[in-house]
Amino acid sequence: YSGKKTMATVTESMMNLKVKDFQSVPVVVAENMTVYDAICHMFLEDVGTLFVVDDHGFLQGVLSRKDLLRTSIGSQDLTKIPVHIIMTRMPNIVYCKKNDSLILAAKKLIERQVDSLPVINEKEEGIEIIGRLTKTNITKAFISLADTHDL
Ligand code: ADP
Repeated sequence: YSGKKTMATVTESMMNLKVKDFQSVPVVVAENMTVYDAICHMFLEDVGTLFVVDDHGFLQGVLSRKDLLRTSIGSQDLTKIPVHIIMTRMPNIVYCKKNDSLILAAKKLIERQVDSLPVINEKEEGIEIIGRLTKTNITKAFISLADTHDL
């Protein structure tokens, strides 16, 4: 078996991995949800990142575990603070699209030092969220490559 040939086919299938084949379901919350409720939501939904949407369901912000922790160590009443006060907001959000290569998305995760990217669909009225791409998805893709090629 040629090592060179194996390398070429692994490289080719790696370049062909797409965001849409590995993305997870996005979990979204409303801008006026309280920080307290967002923490409960994050536990119940078992995700590390919540996407914040406006009344039309369009992307406005991102909430990470540390955003919620940072707010929780203050002496503020978490049932009184809406998440839009503490979220990272547009235009600072890093995102990807369903047909992007997984490599491109992985680079964004590492370069921007975030755990997850919203998978979005840009419309004239706003940004629709159609998925969530996390470091776990990248790790699963890595394993799928190994499985495909019997590595
Ligand atoms: P954690 O803060 O729990 O380690 P992250 O590394 O994902 O999780 O988040 C770090 C910071 O970056 C947080 O303030 C968060 O709001 C923000 N953030 C998370 N994901 C994104 C994203 N896709 N685009 C822009 N900012 C993000």
